[in-house]
Amino acid sequence: MKNAHVLIIGAGLGGLTATLALQKAGLKVTVFETAPQLGEVGAGLTISPNATHALEYVGLGPYMAQYGDRPEAAASLHYQTGEVLYYTQRDSDFRAKYGAEYYQIHRADVHGALAAAVRANDPNAIHLSHTFADVTQAGDTVTATFSNGKTYTGDVLIGCDGVRSAVREKLFGGGPPRFTGQSVFRGVVDAAPVLEHMIPTPSATTMGPGRIFTRYYIRKRTLVNFVGIARTDAWKEEGWSIPATVDEMLSVYGDFHKHAQAIIKSTPPGKLFKWALFDRNPLPQWTVGRVSLLGDAAHPMLPFLGMGAAMGFEDGAILGRCFEASATIDEALARYEKARKERTTMVLLNSRKQGELYQSNDPVSMRGQTSGELRLGLFDYNVKTVAV
Ligand SMILES: Cc1cc2nc3c(=O)[nH]c(=O)nc-3n(C[C@H](O)[C@H](O)[C@H](O)COP(=O)(O)OP(=O)(O)OC[C@H]3O[C@@H](n4cnc5c(N)ncnc54)[C@H](O)[C@@H]3O)c2cc1C
Repeated sequence: MKNAHVLIIGAGLGGLTATLALQKAGLKVTVFETAPQLGEVGAGLTISPNATHALEYVGLGPYMAQYGDRPEAAASLHYQTGEVLYYTQRDSDFRAKYGAEYYQIHRADVHGALAAAVRANDPNAIHLSHTFADVTQAGDTVTATFSNGKTYTGDVLIGCDGVRSAVREKLFGGGPPRFTGQSVFRGVVDAAPVLEHMIPTPSATTMGPGRIFTRYYIRKRTLVNFVGIARTDAWKEEGWSIPATVDEMLSVYGDFHKHAQAIIKSTPPGKLFKWALFDRNPLPQWTVGRVSLLGDAAHPMLPFLGMGAAMGFEDGAILGRCFEASATIDEALARYEKARKERTTMVLLNSRKQGELYQSNDPVSMRGQTSGELRLGLFDYNVKTVAV
């Protein structure tokens, strides 16, 4: 098994975590990424304790401790009055309970740290400008073909190529993902001009009919990341970087509380983006022969539980553990799919339900609720100890 060569398609958060976990298991890993250079969009990411366990497993514990923001509490607020509908403490009791921190961080920081760790293990592991086009299996080998005409042969291939996964399409077809009727605005602004609006907690979600507005600090409270998710089919463009304007966002959030509006209004020109949300129904199986899927390629989900990347981090760590624990590649892939499918399907389906709850026509009905992640026990999962 130590001689096995793994081909990873996609150098996103999931693909790089899987690469590190497989390198830790002693395998040779080559990553193929369509982009000409590595990078992530300017946006924040919530790293819940279950995700922290996975990042710690691949060696990023010290990095997260140094660069992650730790919001000691979060609140859900009424969109008009600003009333706290429910409150979640995330301090030392929380750490004692789950054994790992809850962080919020810039996506580009985590992505950069993962890529640097992969390259520290193997400087030639990541091949940029390689767009996966096809895969064939013959005997015990897999051969990937790229649109630049190059081919590479290995022992196993994992598609980590996101919501529009070409690997998934090759394995199972199914066409493009489903537009969910939800669209997103996102921005990152300087914290200093909006400090008075970051109350009562460093992390908060404001809830209105058909819309939520989430904001939290990143980069040691020097920046504020915000995301507005609204039920609308006004546009269906995908991609993280479609420009939007403050006026456009205010036409959707103009009746929201002054604190939310002040943060939106502080966004400089060119720093506000929008995109439409897509997901897919759960797959009945992920693996065909020596080819499998991971992260959004396997289970793209709505962001209402903040668990999409977390599921990819968990997948990656568990994939590494499965290779470590198995005598053959077939056994490792079977263990991986068995360990991960039920949990990710549960989170995918509950992310849809959570969206309906959050965007209820009567936000007051959320008074006294428990946050979805706590209610579902999502933080109890520890990749280091769960059975594989
Ligand atoms: C509004 C919003 C907020 C979110 N907030 C959170 C959060 O707070 N916490 C959380 O855990 N999750 C969050 N998520 C979800 C999270 O962003 C995704 O689940 C995560 O980025 C998926 O990682 P991935 O590596 O599977 O896919 P991706 O990040 O999409 O990476 C796929 C990679 O594959 C490459 N690629 C694509 N096609 C090919 C090809 N043919 N050949 C080669 N390479 C290819 C891409 O360029 C990319 O680098 C959020 C999502 C949204 C929409």
